[in-house]
Parts: sequence; structure tokens; C-alpha cells
Amino acid sequence: MRRSMEMLEISEAHPDAPLIQRAAACLRRGGLVAFPTETVYGLGAHALDPRAVARVFAAKGRPLTDPLIVHVARVEDVRPLVRALPASAERLAARFWPGPLTLVLPRSSRVPDLVTAGLETVAVRVPAHPVARALLQAADLPVAAPSANLFSRPSPTRAAHVRDDLGDRVDLILDGGPTDVGVESTVVDLSGAAPVVLRPGAIAIETLRDVVPDVREHVPAAVRADQAHASPGLLATHYAPRAPLTIYAGPIPAALDRLLADAREAGARGQRVGILAAADDVPRIQRADLSSSRLFVLGPRSDDATIASRLYAGLRALDADADVILSLAFDGSGGLWPALRDRLRRASARVVTV
Ligand code: AMP
Ligand code: MG
Repeated sequence: MRRSMEMLEISEAHPDAPLIQRAAACLRRGGLVAFPTETVYGLGAHALDPRAVARVFAAKGRPLTDPLIVHVARVEDVRPLVRALPASAERLAARFWPGPLTLVLPRSSRVPDLVTAGLETVAVRVPAHPVARALLQAADLPVAAPSANLFSRPSPTRAAHVRDDLGDRVDLILDGGPTDVGVESTVVDLSGAAPVVLRPGAIAIETLRDVVPDVREHVPAAVRADQAHASPGLLATHYAPRAPLTIYAGPIPAALDRLLADAREAGARGQRVGILAAADDVPRIQRADLSSSRLFVLGPRSDDATIASRLYAGLRALDADADVILSLAFDGSGGLWPALRDRLRRASARVVTV
């Protein structure tokens, strides 16, 4: 019999112990618990229970070729899941865990094939969010947790996003408020000769270089939908709203002119237009006086942290009441910019270069 979902508020600073115990018991029984992490909300399941893991794929509509990240409470909990913990992993863990860094390591036979999509590696992370930490400690299990969204949609940064996407497909949602970082963890593959960033994310590559100077950026090759991916974040279309997103790249005044002209034309065709904007561009957009458009302001153009924390909420908000979404390219060097560029590109249906 199908139970219905419960969504319960939980304090980030002082997670309620009885509620954490309830969520932990749900995970031990093979249930699905959505919980906040410092990056995005995760959809958690007992990682060593293939039936629970299968429910994660079914709930998200996620292809079985797309492996999951296993979350644990402490570095020591990684050891049973991997064949070896190389010195580079120990150094990265000491510096960045708990935190938004995922390490890909040769897996042990304990990890179900379903979790790794049959790969000989497993992705592991120790999250920093107090609710995630309390839950992992109480459950005393490795918890497989991809982002708690429907496959290919923007990741959830609020509990309501999880409810909108998954509803009764999840047993319990712990609502710890908006997540902090807003983009996913950085994924580093340590299973080869040199460390490789498979997915840019919350921790900047230049920060990783302090600890692993030889870390390289992954050069994306075309990923076939029927193959297990080195990293699920490598899918060409991912994180996408339903309304097609067009990105305008090039010098800002010209790109913005083109965006506003296209917005006006789409409006004239009767389409509802959503515009994702930097705060800097708001006066110019308001002067354009577009009647049928809705604006979502991400933050100051130079502020990667604010833009990252609002990006997915912005895509979802505009998706709810626009037929098309238009955005300037957001760009900069270092910090969260590579992750933002990557997510916006994957969310987009087309890029117009002015
Ligand atoms: P998400 O839906 O964002 O939680 O995606 C899960 C993440 O798992 C992706 O970003 C991948 O980078 C990562 N991942 C999981 N398992 C592996 C693996 N064995 N090798 C490489 N990446 C993995
Ligand atoms: Mg995801």
C-alpha cells in the first residue's frame, strides 16, 4: 500500500532529535527521505539496500546508467565502500570534509551495482549541513542521495521544489529552509593516474589545487544516453526548465538589446516571457517596458555566490509562469563561475551569440 508523503520543518541550527530519529528509521526500513545539504536537497535511500536504491531511480525517473553519490557521516565510513583510500583522498578529505566535495574512488564489493551504474568506482561525500550530518549519524548507514528533483529538471534548493517534483514518491521531506550554496558538489575522480574534476561545483578548482596541484579539468566528450556516465552531471541536457531557455552571450549592452528585442517579439506572439537577470540590468529592462514579461533577479553580476544560491529557484519560478525564458550569459573566472556556466549551458535550449 502506498503511504503519503510528509513534509516537516526542521531547524538547521538545532535539528530536532526525535524527528531525525524518525527519518533515520525510515531510511533503515528502505524508505526515501529528502533532506537539505549545503548544496541542494538530496533524495536519500539506504545505499546498501538495492530495493531502496531502485526506488530512488523510479521516483526521479532517472536512467539506471546514471550513478548516485553515497553520503556518509565521517571519513572512516568511506573505508568499507572503497578498495583503497589514496593519499590524495585523505588530504582532500582532511581539508574539505565535511563539505561540498565528492570523491570518485575504486569501489568495494559491498556497494550495490545499482548505486554505481555498474561502474568499478563509487562517488562518496561527507556533507556539512547540520541536518544531513545528524541524519547520517542517526541512520548509521551510507545513504545514496542524488538531487531530489525529477530527472533532468533543475535541482531543488528549497523543500517546496522537492514536493513539487516528487510529491508522494518520497516518504518524508525534511524542510530545513533554502540551501546555502545552490549548485551541486564538485566531483573529483581519484581513480586514475591524476585527479580529474568531472563536474565543476561548489568548491573551486583553484582551491582544490592547494591540496592536489596536479588536478585537471575534465574535457567533456559526447555522452551517449545508453552508457554509464563517468559523472551524471555530464549529460548535455540537465538541470533544465520545461520552458525553453535561451542564453544571450557576447558584449553586455548588445546581448541585452537582442534579448529585449526577442522578448518584445515573443510577447507580441502572445508568449509569456520570463527573464533571468542580474541586478545591474534591472533599470534597462524596466525601461524597455515589456508588459507580458516576468523578471527574476539573481543578484549583482559580479556576485557568483548569490547568483548560484538563486539560480535553480529562478529557473523554477519562471518555469511556473512563462512559456520561454531568456537570460544573459553569466560569466567570470574562478570561484563558482565554472559551475554556473556549466549549469546554465546544460539548462539551455539554445545560445545566441551576439
Ligand atoms: P546528482 O543528481 O546531482 O546528485 O548527481 C549525482 C552525481 O553523482 C553526479 O554529479 C556524478 O558526478 C556523481 N557520480 C556518482 N557516481 C559516480 C561514479 N562512480 N563516477 C563518477 N561520478 C559519479
Ligand atoms: Mg541531479
